[in-house]
Amino acid sequence: MPKPRKDRIVAQPPLFRSFKPAGQRRRQLPKIILSLDEYEAIRLADYLGYGHSKAAVEMEISRSTFTRLVEKARHKLAQFILAGKELAISGGKIHVKGNRMRCLDCGEIFLSDFEATSAICQRCNSVNIEDLARSYGHDRCCKKRQRNRR
Ligand SMILES: [Zn+2]
Ligand SMILES: [Zn+2]
Repeated sequence: MPKPRKDRIVAQPPLFRSFKPAGQRRRQLPKIILSLDEYEAIRLADYLGYGHSKAAVEMEISRSTFTRLVEKARHKLAQFILAGKELAISGGKIHVKGNRMRCLDCGEIFLSDFEATSAICQRCNSVNIEDLARSYGHDRCCKKRQRNRR
């Protein structure tokens, strides 16, 4: 049996999950799915400028795995820009290290560890809060992973 693939670590859930070329009707567009681990590879290598070794440590994968991952992710971004497709971020065998919350009333983004019990906007006191990890399907699994590490 093949060895089960280890979960990859994403620092925080992405803020934006869907992109499309301006002026195109969404329904007609072919969709590219960028997985959350591919998103994280782009963030580390191309947004923050990390070398592959350092980025691999962040994601808890090997350097060669990271290199393959970021190449695949770049190819998807290139397709998105050149072929006029919709790009959506979802899926991937990952867990997030920290969470982010978005206030649906004022737009404020704030960090949250998984232990936080109440979600109240620190700027406008709204309780109308989107839990980003949860909106990508992550919640208890990431909490459990963190507890096991302590
Ligand atoms: Zn707010
Ligand atoms: Zn998780």
